[in-house]
Amino acid sequence: MTEKTSDVRTGGCLCGAVRYEAAGETVFAIQCYCRDCQHISGGGHAPQFAVKRDTVAKSGPLKTYCLKSDAGNDVEFGFCGDCGSPIYKTSSQAPELIFLFAGSLNDPTGFAVGTKVYEDRRQPWDTS
Ligand SMILES: [Zn+2]
Ligand SMILES: [Zn+2]
Repeated sequence: MTEKTSDVRTGGCLCGAVRYEAAGETVFAIQCYCRDCQHISGGGHAPQFAVKRDTVAKSGPLKTYCLKSDAGNDVEFGFCGDCGSPIYKTSSQAPELIFLFAGSLNDPTGFAVGTKVYEDRRQPWDTS
């Protein structure tokens, strides 16, 4: 939660049509096991990091899907309209932030696993 980095991070989708650049510091990182993140990732959880929304520049054929989280927040999920890769998520709970999915980074090797949240939703086969 206290890890901060000012590195400019770049990322995008599988087909390369969506690109982003995150110039701001990581505010915090989470590894989320909620059912929404299971659907979004197609796996057991979604590692993601939050940065200030106004520090992220995005381009390409992004599509969005809006939903209500279990906690009642309005969540916007952004993904590539061509290849479907998950890119980001925003929530009315923290409107100044944008959550970028760690797997979308051009260089995901430097990602530090964040706080694990919604662990009560973790699937028994998800061992990480
Ligand atoms: Zn794509
Ligand atoms: Zn989640």
